[in-house]
Order: sequence, then C-alpha cells, then structure tokens
Amino acid sequence: MSNCLFCKIINKETPADIVYENEKVIAFKDISPKAPIHILIVPKKHITSLKEVKIKDKELLGELFLVAKKIAWDKNLKGYKLIVNVGRKAGQIVDHLHIHLLSGKPSHHNKLWATPK
Ligand code: 5GP
Ligand code: ZN
Repeated sequence: MSNCLFCKIINKETPADIVYENEKVIAFKDISPKAPIHILIVPKKHITSLKEVKIKDKELLGELFLVAKKIAWDKNLKGYKLIVNVGRKAGQIVDHLHIHLLSGKPSHHNKLWATPK
C-alpha cells in the first residue's frame, strides 16, 4: 500500500526507531509514547485492521504475539499491556493492523494506565 504510513516504515521510506524485525513482522517505537515503553508491533503484510483479518492470517497473528513476548523478554519487562484498536471509534488512526505494547511506570496524567483503587 503506497499511501500507508506503516508500509512506508516497513519499506524504509519513512524512518522509525526499529526495535525488532524479522521476515514477517516489524516493531518500532511509537512516535508519541503513551507510556515509558510504547512499541508498535506490525505485520509486514498490509492488513487494514483486525476486521479484515482472514483465516489464512492465523499464523501471522500468532507471530505478532510471539514478537511482543520476545520484546518484553529482551527488555526484562515485569508487566505490560497489549492493545489493538479496531476502527476509528476505538481510536485507530493508522489503517494498518498493529499491536501496541505498553509498559513502565504509570503517569497520573495517563488515563490508560490509571488503575482502579
Ligand atoms: P492507532 O491509534 O492507529 O491504534 O495507533 C497508531 C499509533 O501510531 C499512534 O499511537 C501514533 O502515535 C503512532 N504514530 C503515528 N504516526 C507515527 C509515525 O510517523 N511514526 C511512529 N513511529 N509512530 C507513529
Ligand atoms: Zn500498510
């Protein structure tokens, strides 16, 4: 997809702080982090969102989670959240499937990390 931001990052047409890459998956730091660690895990195949995922993508979906696990292991994260926004109403702004990996100390400004008392 020539007009897709994440495809441009995958094709190295747009720079990103890449933390992991293999044949099928790339992971890079979010440009506007919502937590001390905020990494996007992205399939190299252009899939618009989880809504467009097909049965044949089953293995690729598993791969995304295994990459999340590997990054968390490598960074020695004690705990982390994985978030997938599906559709505009859920806050998806980039139309290329991705998992947000969030970790680190909560900030009192950050509702995403506010834990109920
Ligand atoms: P979404 O809201 O679609 O689930 O997540 C898209 C994420 O992409 C957002 O957290 C946003 O900060 C991040 N983002 C947007 N533009 C860029 C960019 O050019 N580079 C990087 N690394 N992240 C971006
Ligand atoms: Zn794309």
